This record gives sequence, C-alpha cells and structure tokens, in this order.
Amino acid sequence: MEDCIFCKIVAGEIPGEVVHATERTVAFRDLNPQAPTHVLVVPRRHFANAAELAAGDPEASAELLTTAAAVAADEGHDDYRLVFNTGAGVGQTVFHTHLHLLAGRPMTWPPG
Ligand code: AMP
Repeated sequence: MEDCIFCKIVAGEIPGEVVHATERTVAFRDLNPQAPTHVLVVPRRHFANAAELAAGDPEASAELLTTAAAVAADEGHDDYRLVFNTGAGVGQTVFHTHLHLLAGRPMTWPPG
C-alpha cells in the first residue's frame, strides 16, 4: 500500500533490521525499543489492525504468533509479552498490523 512505512520495509524499499522472515510475515527490530528485545512482526499483506488481519488472512494471523515465538526463542527468552495496539486512542501509530514482541526486562501489569 502506498505511503505505508511497514509495506515499504516488507518490500525492501526502506531499511529495516529484519531478524526473521516467513512466507507470510516479516519480523524487524523496533526503531525506538522499549525493551532489550523489541521486535515487530508484520504480515506481508497490508491490513490496518489485528482484527482485519484475522478476518482477511487467518493463516498470516496465526503465523504472526508462531514467528514471534520463534524470534523469542532465537533471542533466548522464555518469558515475553505480545501486544497489538488497535486504534490511535491506545497508541497505534502505524496502521499496518504489527505484533510487538517485548522481552528481556521485568514488566508490570496493567500496562500504561
Ligand atoms: P504502534 O504505536 O503500536 O503503532 O507501534 C508502531 C511502532 O513502530 C513504534 O514502536 C515505532 O517505534 C515503530 N516504528 C516506526 N517506524 C519504524 C521503522 N521505520 N522501523 C522500525 N520501527 C518503526
């Protein structure tokens, strides 16, 4: 999709520090990491959020989770947090579905 920064990373048009890629997903490091491991897992196809991805491409939706687990294991983490922000009101700033994988430090609950 035109003007989508994550579509451009998936297409290799702008740089991203890719750590894992599958048929349907790409995982790359967040530019502004909030934990020692902060990786974004995105579907190659453009959807605005997690629910739209689940409705439109359930296989890619599942693959986001298996990719995140593989990256966590690659980086040596048994404990990690997965987050989908959905909507500007809770902090979504990029409207291409992305799963945050956060790990490597203690975390509190509820999140801020
Ligand atoms: P969200 O606020 O849930 O929409 O998350 C968007 C995330 O994308 C933020 O954590 C940003 O730091 C991250 N981000 C924005 N642009 C880039 C980029 N070019 N490469 C990697 N991460 C990015």
